Amino acid sequence: MAPFMKTLKIAVLPGDYIGPEVMDVALDVLKAATAPAGIQLDLQSADVGGAAIDNQGSALPESTIKICEAADAILFGSIGGPKWEHLPPAEQPERAALLPIRKHFKLFANLRPGLLYKELTEASPLKTERIPEGIDIACVRELTGGIYFGPKRQRELEDGDVEATDEMVYKRSEIERILDVAITTAKARSGRICSVDKANVLTTSVLWRKTATEYIAAKAPEIELTHMYVDNAAMQLARDPNQFDVIVTENMFGDILSDEMGIVCGSLGMLSSASLGLGKNQYGNPFGLYEPSGGTAPDIAGKGIANPCAQILSAALMLRHSFGLNDIAENIEKAVKQAVMDGHRTGDIAFGQKSIGTQEMAQAVIERL
Ligand code: NAD
Repeated sequence: MAPFMKTLKIAVLPGDYIGPEVMDVALDVLKAATAPAGIQLDLQSADVGGAAIDNQGSALPESTIKICEAADAILFGSIGGPKWEHLPPAEQPERAALLPIRKHFKLFANLRPGLLYKELTEASPLKTERIPEGIDIACVRELTGGIYFGPKRQRELEDGDVEATDEMVYKRSEIERILDVAITTAKARSGRICSVDKANVLTTSVLWRKTATEYIAAKAPEIELTHMYVDNAAMQLARDPNQFDVIVTENMFGDILSDEMGIVCGSLGMLSSASLGLGKNQYGNPFGLYEPSGGTAPDIAGKGIANPCAQILSAALMLRHSFGLNDIAENIEKAVKQAVMDGHRTGDIAFGQKSIGTQEMAQAVIERL
């Protein structure tokens, strides 16, 4: 049962191109879903990305960080696009805002639901007979450790050759905290976790597997835990994605597997994501940043045709993880699914059938809450 609370303090960072379009209507859905429970939204908007460069001269202004710090969660749109591509790489919106904000809030866990409704199997590159009921899985990726963040060096050898090294480093505590996110995710689903590693080769993976086995047995014995090597997991995702429920894995393996999962699930317009931080908000839940998996879609921006579902589903993830409002999150998720099942489709998921705009799509969701 979700804890009662009166006000959810949310930093709203719409970003660029379709970002503000999908954010606007996602907030309408959020208001409609929470109001019946007596919940109020304290929404603090701030510039980020290209919009912030234009308005304030920096992709992540101090004032935006302050608004985020004062909030219980961040609802993020997406940032970047052709308008800012002339800038030096380090000043481009994604690099100058997204990476620093993840770092600032120590967002160590990335959660991506891999969701493809039965009605949208055409959107997947997999044959429909492999996914007759669509896809419904989730990937929990460790985001701040492993080989991307370990010590790096490059040196010239005596024989004139050059050697480069990236070290993969994990602490037991880092593994345990990502397992906590996987456990929470699995408990809200069917209770199965597949931990993906390379324990036949890597020492970090041996620790990963041992920690997963011991920690889940102690913390959540009701969870059904299996292990899989990453090379096999990559094949199994393309062969039969639904054999998984929740995948939990380290940073680099998760980077690759979550993108593979994204493509087998079809349209970017439907894929949400959550990045959870070390910090807790005033409700004792993880502070998190919630955003669509896709980018700013400059090719369709300003036309009112972007699919708002990824942003709406990101808001649902926020309610679940940062506010413990599982029931309302589920209500939103079911309403999105029902709207699509009832034939309401934006262009990216219409497959030649009649398509509707961003606002109509959100309205169809609100009517089904
Ligand atoms: P993109 O994800 O923006 O678009 C790829 C394709 O998917 C396009 O055809 C687009 O129209 C479509 N698409 C994406 N979201 C959609 C939606 N909600 N509804 C309907 N169609 C949708 O990727 P891109 O074109 O490579 O990148 C555009 C910009 O976005 C770049 O500047 C990139 O750096 C940035 N980007 C930002 C983020 C982020 O903010 N997290 C992530 C990825 C890309």
